[in-house]
Amino acid sequence: MNQPSAAPPEDRQPLPAVDRVLATDAAQAAAERFGRVATVASVRASINEVRPAWRAGAQVDVSPERIATVAAARLESDDRPSQRRVLNLTGTVLHTNLGRALIAEEAIAAVVAAMRSPTSLEFNLSDGGRGERDDHVRGLLRELTGAEDAVAVNNNAAAVLLTLNSLSEDRETIVSRGELIEIGGAFRMPAIMKRAGARLVEIGTTNRTHLADYADAIGPATALLMKVHPSNYRIEGFVKEVSAAELAPLARERGLPLVDDLGSGVLVDLAKYGLERERTVQEAVSDGADLVTFSGDKLLGGPQAGLVVGRSDLVRRLAKNHLKRALRLDKLRLAALEATLKLYRDPDRLAEKLPTLALLARPAEALKTLAAKLRPAVAAAVGPAYAVEVADLSSQIGSGALPLAKIPSGGFAISAPGEKSGGALVRLAAAFRALEIPVIGRIAEDRLLLDLRGLDDEAALVAGLAQLGAANAGERAW
Ligand SMILES: *Cc1c(COP(=O)(O)O)cnc(C)c1O
Repeated sequence: MNQPSAAPPEDRQPLPAVDRVLATDAAQAAAERFGRVATVASVRASINEVRPAWRAGAQVDVSPERIATVAAARLESDDRPSQRRVLNLTGTVLHTNLGRALIAEEAIAAVVAAMRSPTSLEFNLSDGGRGERDDHVRGLLRELTGAEDAVAVNNNAAAVLLTLNSLSEDRETIVSRGELIEIGGAFRMPAIMKRAGARLVEIGTTNRTHLADYADAIGPATALLMKVHPSNYRIEGFVKEVSAAELAPLARERGLPLVDDLGSGVLVDLAKYGLERERTVQEAVSDGADLVTFSGDKLLGGPQAGLVVGRSDLVRRLAKNHLKRALRLDKLRLAALEATLKLYRDPDRLAEKLPTLALLARPAEALKTLAAKLRPAVAAAVGPAYAVEVADLSSQIGSGALPLAKIPSGGFAISAPGEKSGGALVRLAAAFRALEIPVIGRIAEDRLLLDLRGLDDEAALVAGLAQLGAANAGERAW
């Protein structure tokens, strides 16, 4: 048996003492950057890590310089933020798992300014009295949507929760069975209703709901009629839905509020940007919805937020609900939201200013031209085991906006011709994710697809490709 001896041979380079490692230039530089305590801990950990191999007689470099370098690299990697910047080449522009909308520069500047100083968040500068935080966006939301009043909360799920709790607690809300949606994660309309204390009354069938179904369901306990945008699916075929415009007169006649949960809050005609039309918030308001709820970080292109616009008396009831305190926005997001909404005053330059809209409006031809230009760099980076093609791809908006709308796009389709199992593509996708700025693609039909529509920084992709090529060539970062 070839047991490793407990004691190392006499002529081995000894493991250095911690102090000797700390005396090296690399360790001094690390201590300057990360602090003495963390550097000592990292040096200890690095010595402990190499000890078993060294004991076993392996050829390992245990010079103080080498151990200091390893310790510094460990500190560097531990120092990386947990939430990392990535390149979104998934083809889904508003990707919930990748943080949805990118914020406009104007909004970023507003957030930074609000972060640095005290602000008039809830302070009335004219009379020195208390102000209301939602006042910073109320006027803009009224101006842009035509609604009487507005309130802003944490996200659209919170907007729906607050609305139902304020207007339908212990009372009934009528919703069509075709609209009892579940949206990724844990947003299920029936569950939100329950949490809000509202009693759900389902009407119609999955595919067909008539105006008479709403009328017949109204009783003494009815508090609300509700429409919900079927954000992530569409029922086709023998289908009948009652539009908000058709429902509004019934709601008015019976003295009941009509709530329209739009999901993605679109404030402009998307057809202007070559996209499929989506009903806007203004249209929902003018169709007669008494309250309209929508997200801030979907097609609106702002920070995570939930917005409720509509009749003043109803909005007041939401604002006075104690839940509002738990769901309210902080000064940073209010600053970002205000700056984002202001951009809508200049519709001609919206697509330049709002990054999400800019990405969605990019012509497929431009993306394919870019792909053709970058193809040699991609091929060089992934190496000869893979075939890289410039491909026609199809992006989607994401986050429940126009679920079936496919936006023609361009990018790369990478395949591994020699391999049957798909393991090579999984490995390649992992290598892209391991880059300094991770590149996130998607695997479909035995190809790794990199859709350039979501690329917000071409130089970062080029740098990533160089890094991937170097890693493939065996040049490790350290
Ligand atoms: C996305 C969506 C929600 C949830 O909005 P968040 O901002 O993610 O909380 C609610 N309702 C509809 C119809 C949606 O599309």
